[in-house]
Amino acid sequence: MSIFYDSALVLRDIASLILPRTCLACGRTLLENEGCVCLACRYNMPLTDFAKRR
Ligand SMILES: [Zn+2]
Repeated sequence: MSIFYDSALVLRDIASLILPRTCLACGRTLLENEGCVCLACRYNMPLTDFAKRR
């Protein structure tokens, strides 16, 4: 890890204290490894199987 990478992580963590990332579906605060939607919303989301259709 470089010092620039560590600095970017620190800045991101400080920014998340002021403006936390929230789930687009339910508004809960997202964990570090979650994207736009929290894990609970992803789990409860219905499956469409669009990827299997041709
Ligand atoms: Zn959610």
